[in-house]
Amino acid sequence: MSAGMSAAWRAKQQKPKRCQRCELYYSASLDTCDQCATLSEAQLTLFKIKRQKILQKMRLSVNIY
Ligand SMILES: [Zn+2]
Repeated sequence: MSAGMSAAWRAKQQKPKRCQRCELYYSASLDTCDQCATLSEAQLTLFKIKRQKILQKMRLSVNIY
């Protein structure tokens, strides 16, 4: 019984999908990613570079402390 309940719960709590284009997670209830839908290819490239720099900074700060 509890297994059936958790299955129902899991169906409600759908895991977000990962977008192949922008590599961000978006709601599984959506057909397409809404994070990069409005971005052009050029904007997407800039967006990825920006995010990579932020990640790098985060990694650096982790190493310092
Ligand atoms: Zn996307």
